[in-house]
Amino acid sequence: MTGDDYTPQTGDLRFEVEHYDLELDYRVSSNRLEGRATLRCRALESTRAVALDLTGLRASRVRVAGDKKASFRLRANRLEIGLSRALAEGDELEITIDYAGSPRPRRSAWGTVGWEELEDGAIVASQPIGASTWFPCNDRPADKATYTIRITTEAAYDVVAGERIGSSARGGKRTWEFTHSQPTATYLVAVQIGRYRRREVDLAGVAGEIHHPPLLAPSVTADFAPLPRMMTVFEEAFGPYPFPAYTVVVTHDELEIPLEAQGAAVFGANHIDGQGTLERLIAHELAHQWFGNSVGVASWRDIWLNEGPACYAEWIWSERAGGHGTHALALAHHARLREKPQDLRIEDPGPERMFDDRLYKRGALALHALRLEVGDGVFFGILRAWTERHAGRAVSTDDFVRLSEEISGTDLGGLFDAWLSRDELPHLPHVAGVAPAPLTEVALGE
Ligand SMILES: [Zn+2]
Repeated sequence: MTGDDYTPQTGDLRFEVEHYDLELDYRVSSNRLEGRATLRCRALESTRAVALDLTGLRASRVRVAGDKKASFRLRANRLEIGLSRALAEGDELEITIDYAGSPRPRRSAWGTVGWEELEDGAIVASQPIGASTWFPCNDRPADKATYTIRITTEAAYDVVAGERIGSSARGGKRTWEFTHSQPTATYLVAVQIGRYRRREVDLAGVAGEIHHPPLLAPSVTADFAPLPRMMTVFEEAFGPYPFPAYTVVVTHDELEIPLEAQGAAVFGANHIDGQGTLERLIAHELAHQWFGNSVGVASWRDIWLNEGPACYAEWIWSERAGGHGTHALALAHHARLREKPQDLRIEDPGPERMFDDRLYKRGALALHALRLEVGDGVFFGILRAWTERHAGRAVSTDDFVRLSEEISGTDLGGLFDAWLSRDELPHLPHVAGVAPAPLTEVALGE
């Protein structure tokens, strides 16, 4: 019944959500959230019941449009809704939930995820099952929806939660309105609240914004200086940037890892040093807008389709920025992977290892092997066709293999089988005159 075999605790396959309307009131000083969520849904099969995920918050009232006798109960982070008459496949369903509480992250096999208080503000980092810590949702990656989000909070704070429509202040509070006008997975919807300064940047024609603590301005300026050029390089490689804008948030707090959100990315103060030390992570998070956010995985088992290209984008950027070339980096990471246990099949790594760094690197190497096999022109043609045809959709590894074979006109079964379906690390083809890059940087997940 639930949505994904890697995250069986969340999601409901009996229906999908087409639009979320979230009306939120949040008090930073007391971490108190009051919300009303209206979900416009569609039944995917005939059913008399649906379940939403809601974690650590209390629903006080649930209404189903046109069904006064609908019942609900909250049990084990699931809001189970009983309907008084059965829905047929394709029927529409509108559910409104009033809820409140003190949002906090939920524990999971992947650490704590979801809404998290900062020293003076809040962030949301939901991947993979944290979205229900701040709104009732059908929390499975394939169920993409559009969003309208209105948030009222103390006027001293800056808020980022999607494409900003506007904001208005009244009585010491400010109400912000955002949308996601393109299909968005629950885990990629995020709210960032802090005492940030906002600056606009032109990213090669894409509207960009950076929100950051005022004191970090010099380091932020230095470290994000390559962003416009990065955008140009990636649009060339992957196709047009898929969203109306790109927003970067840098928090006062240190964060374990930077994280992508829809049309946005969040970095901790510790990721910024004014020296560009973690420039590769800036490239990585930007690349997720194409791979992961616009084209998303239907199931978590295919997470290499997000992380492989995002990691490979770091290498592409390195080469284009005058650093080590893609093949030199591939050789270096290949050598490093060879020394690690070869017991990970990246097309199905198992839930506990879906964020294993070996999957990221081997995913990138699989793409590099494909590139060496089909040549640069065809390879980048595959990536651009991928982001164009599947924009806003949820995909699988089979889709990628099929598209690669279609664009290249080649049977790539052997190559993908070796790189994706087997534990043993395949050899990388030899490229004359290229030596492995020295790898000295600290390994960081992302
Ligand atoms: Zn990533």
